[in-house]
Amino acid sequence: MTVLQLKNIKKTFGSGHKKVEALKDITFEANSDELIAIIGPSGSGKSTFLTIVGGLLTPTEGDIIINGQNISKLSEKERSKLRLKEIGFILQASNLVPFLTVDNQMKLLDKVKKENMSIQDVDRLCKDLGIDDLRGKYPSDLSGGERQRVAIAKALYSKPSIILADEPTASLDSDRAFEVMELLKNETKNNKTTTIVVTHDTRLISYFDKVFQMTDGVLENITEQVLNGENEWKK
Ligand code: ADP
Ligand code: MG
Repeated sequence: MTVLQLKNIKKTFGSGHKKVEALKDITFEANSDELIAIIGPSGSGKSTFLTIVGGLLTPTEGDIIINGQNISKLSEKERSKLRLKEIGFILQASNLVPFLTVDNQMKLLDKVKKENMSIQDVDRLCKDLGIDDLRGKYPSDLSGGERQRVAIAKALYSKPSIILADEPTASLDSDRAFEVMELLKNETKNNKTTTIVVTHDTRLISYFDKVFQMTDGVLENITEQVLNGENEWKK
């Protein structure tokens, strides 16, 4: 099932000779049950792409359709509602609130999202992510890997249909990076989400169903090349 469609998306920052065309006419589709990588050099537009998909930034031109709804045509309020319900963000710097325990970070989400997860669902999520023992702790008491798992729990909270992750393994050693990818893969397959991961990390290639490369604001599907070993991201 097609969950996400981008049609002729352009994003321009600034104007005059300072103008930057961060995204140039991007058309893209993603289905439920798909784990997708976006690779590409720094400054090529990956974060801009992810932020636009997540509805945090509006495109200069083009349409974004999420579960059949054209979000470009929604009001700010409707868009923010859709974002809270359908989209889970995992950011580079894990977006934890420093003065709240892990449990209270999640309770805060109930307030923000205005829908409570059942206690059973929260328990299961914490068990699945291996953070059950950390629920009474503050972010400063957690290791990098633990913080990233809590950030993922927050993104998965209330079962979004789209999960967006910007370099989720950047600060992790190999074992932790594989663990995080394992979790994202399980979530994608078990809950039939669409998961898009921006990454530089060639260690992770085998986890993905599709690979796209961003070059200077242009997005290209390179899944075939990767599978055939014609790309640096060899199997
Ligand atoms: P990546 O994530 O691939 O490193 P970005 O999406 O962050 O790339 O940036 C793409 C281009 O858009 C870069 O040239 C960057 O400088 C520019 N850019 C991104 N955000 C802004 C902004 N808010 N204002 C002006 N330029 C921006
Ligand atoms: Mg970036």
